[in-house]
Amino acid sequence: MSTHFIQPDLNYDREHVWHPYSSMTDPGYTWPVVSASGVRLKLQDGRELIDGMSSWWCTVHGYNHPVLNAALNEQAERMSHVMFGGLTHGPAIELARRLVALTPDGLEKVFIADSGSVSVEVAIKMAIQYQHARGETTRTRLLALERGYHGDTLGAMSVCDPKRGMHHLFSGILPEQFFVPAPQTRFEEEWNPDDIAPLRESLEKNHKSIAALILEPVVQGAGGMRFYHPEYLRQARALCDEFGVLLIADEIATGFGRSGKLFACEYAGISPDIMCVGKAITGGYMTLAATLATTEVAETISRGEAGCFMHGPTFMANPLACRVACASLDLLMENNWKEQVSGIEQGLKHGLSRASELEGVADVRVLGAIGVIELKDPVDVKRLQPACVDRGIWVRPFAHNFYVMPPYIMRDGDLAYLTSNMVGALAQTLGE
Ligand SMILES: *Cc1c(COP(=O)(O)O)cnc(C)c1O
Repeated sequence: MSTHFIQPDLNYDREHVWHPYSSMTDPGYTWPVVSASGVRLKLQDGRELIDGMSSWWCTVHGYNHPVLNAALNEQAERMSHVMFGGLTHGPAIELARRLVALTPDGLEKVFIADSGSVSVEVAIKMAIQYQHARGETTRTRLLALERGYHGDTLGAMSVCDPKRGMHHLFSGILPEQFFVPAPQTRFEEEWNPDDIAPLRESLEKNHKSIAALILEPVVQGAGGMRFYHPEYLRQARALCDEFGVLLIADEIATGFGRSGKLFACEYAGISPDIMCVGKAITGGYMTLAATLATTEVAETISRGEAGCFMHGPTFMANPLACRVACASLDLLMENNWKEQVSGIEQGLKHGLSRASELEGVADVRVLGAIGVIELKDPVDVKRLQPACVDRGIWVRPFAHNFYVMPPYIMRDGDLAYLTSNMVGALAQTLGE
């Protein structure tokens, strides 16, 4: 068993293996993948699918990349893991150096976490410890946007959209946070000054209880794939300063070029006090994330009652993950991510535009390497997904959205194939 290929056993999978957001009595269909290379996934039956999902925003350089493989192998032969308490290593230090250099100004201190959700937990704890250290002991709650998504652990869930996150199921254990309506002015529309009013009102009323505002800058991801006006972010930054509230930017999905800027905060020219990054950080090789903070935040926490920041995962700064992350970030620069992303943006705009002619389609929008077809009714995943696979593309729709965020390395021909077959599969499923 040890070194040879493991064939997927679909029956065992169906009986015993839990998949994301799935039922164990009605698990839905899962397709067994045996390998992946470039932008293609290979199924057990030999079919190949062009990947539109980047495995949920992650595999920006495609699968089975020789440079990332080499980094991983070299590190595995040297040291796969070592505890991070009292020890340190090159891959962690070099990853921190890259993150500090690439992220918006002022984010100087790096906490390396194991996943996006954990990095959000870390951000929340930082904000609360910061306010406590300043003597603001009543500021223990978070302010968040409706339609937001920040992860699945309890603290992260508490700041997700309260309806979609099904908060009522967990009432009594989920911390109760403050929410304001999602920004309404779209990215490309003229800014409507009224859009910021609910945020200002909530801060005026509740700021003495609020440690931080958490939001996804410009692109709200899993909560609706919405692109909002950067002026909202600019004014949110100013309001946070006015009311002594920290700003946490969750760039886990948007980070590393996906929105067309290296970080979506750059659309507004702002720096948050705390920023979460994850997903694409290792190019999709393994789980890793980081929470960056300003020197002010880090030093205030360190002067507080605990004298330290109270968090330290077992697998913190795993050397394999950090080493691959360094290689992936270097590739991002060498490959000229900006050109790659703007090429994909053009291809998506062109390829998805035809979808707006379909009766069942409410909206088609593209920003950076993100393309969204929003439907009037919730997507029938059980019909649409097999229709995609039959056409040789991998796209996983969710709620009202049929969306893609392809690997940055995708070539024009593959992208045209992906988009035209998305539109084709959709038309077929809608019966149009
Ligand atoms: C995916 C995501 C998370 C959670 O990251 P995990 O690695 O799945 O825990 C948090 N915030 C945003 C914006 C995300 O897209």
